Amino acid sequence: MLEQEKYDVIVMGAGAAGLMAAGTAAENGARVLLLESMPRPGRKLLITGKGRCNITNNSDISEYLRQIYPLPKFCRPMFNRFFVSDTLSFFHRLGLMTLEERGRRVFPQSQRSMDVLNALLNWNTEGGVEIRYEEAVQEILLEEGRFSGVRTRGEQRYHAAAGILACGGRSYPATGSSGDGYRLAEECGHSIRKPFPALVPLECYGKLAPALQGLSLKNVRIELWVDGKRQGSRFGEMLFTHFGLSGPIILDLSREAVEALEQKRKAEIRLDCKPALDNTALDARLIRELGLHGKSKLKTMLKTLLPLSMILPFCREAGLDAEKFCSRINAEERRHILDSLKDLRFELSGFRGWNEAIITAGGIELKEVNPSTLESKVLPGLFFAGEIMDLDAATGGFNLQIAWSSGFVAGRSAAAAVKS
Ligand SMILES: Cc1cc2nc3c(=O)[nH]c(=O)nc-3n(C[C@H](O)[C@H](O)[C@H](O)COP(=O)(O)OP(=O)(O)OC[C@H]3O[C@@H](n4cnc5c(N)ncnc54)[C@H](O)[C@@H]3O)c2cc1C
Repeated sequence: MLEQEKYDVIVMGAGAAGLMAAGTAAENGARVLLLESMPRPGRKLLITGKGRCNITNNSDISEYLRQIYPLPKFCRPMFNRFFVSDTLSFFHRLGLMTLEERGRRVFPQSQRSMDVLNALLNWNTEGGVEIRYEEAVQEILLEEGRFSGVRTRGEQRYHAAAGILACGGRSYPATGSSGDGYRLAEECGHSIRKPFPALVPLECYGKLAPALQGLSLKNVRIELWVDGKRQGSRFGEMLFTHFGLSGPIILDLSREAVEALEQKRKAEIRLDCKPALDNTALDARLIRELGLHGKSKLKTMLKTLLPLSMILPFCREAGLDAEKFCSRINAEERRHILDSLKDLRFELSGFRGWNEAIITAGGIELKEVNPSTLESKVLPGLFFAGEIMDLDAATGGFNLQIAWSSGFVAGRSAAAAVKS
């Protein structure tokens, strides 16, 4: 056994939540050790928002509660203590200016996630947080039924009165979130709701999606149907890939789709390519276009309704003769074109794995965590922050806000617990 060292608070994981927790505990008077298994901190933070870092979403609490799963009300106490305006003031105080974009998404003005990470790191080091890299926590140590410290993979033992577990989930494991945190918590007696990938691209049967790979459709509506029942719908942008479907609205609907697929239920995405036109308006449009293009082929007329690269695969899928002259298309065929434009179906065969999931659903059972302090109800002195808890949210900055709010509350509560 190697030399022991004494701290007030040990934070496990230097991701978004861990950095917020460590800095907050230090600001509240605690002597803090931050342990990170990777050679560098915040690897996932760096790739957020495609390297631009969508720091938060400037919506009100009620919108947050609509976007968080599976138990949004768990977040209310932490949001009451640290919410969007606190996040913005916090980063502004660190010298990081922000700007708001479409959908109330907030980014650093510099558009660089590296600046967010550097701001957090400087704040931690200036606050006296001691950060040690390549120090993976292997075991949480207990004494008289309380948290007492950690043992690392290198057999180093560190002692403190409080610990904050912020090891993240299981998605994008190359960033360091290997799922270690679940094992550590389980060994302390915690239950874990089975983690599953969320905000993840979906795989589908058939040849249409691969034929359209690379094509992005804007302003379309999709619906998720499970066992013949509509489960949800989204409007916005989607992308076709070699394996199936991706893009913002697909990711947003993926949570319900993954749950259905895990239960071996039949799941289908139905695409409305023309959501701005109802059936009557689209039929009138088709009558007009077919009339105007009487001497042209169907594939030419469809250029007025679909992106060029979509026309032939669309006709093949719908069983339409792209070479047929518009003047020869009868009412039944027109109806079929309309149905295909409004309801193009993709039966789902699966979902992509952890390497492509933006977030992990499942995690530490929330009923075992005090929502006001984020302290474990199983092991006093142990606190939680970030994605490791059974909380996940839609895209748009909601997930990082959970990391900031929970990091703040866990950091403050741990420092207070040490003092008391
Ligand atoms: C591609 C991508 C883009 C995203 N974009 C956005 C976005 O723009 N906006 C948004 O709100 N959310 C976004 N997210 C989600 C967001 O990144 C996460 O919700 C957030 O990073 C979770 O923070 P965390 O600190 O809980 O976990 P993590 O960031 O995963 O940090 C956990 C840390 O713990 C360390 N660790 C693990 N095990 C151990 C151990 N045994 N000992 C010590 N350290 C350990 C890991 O190395 C890691 O550094 C994105 C996610 C991905 C994958």
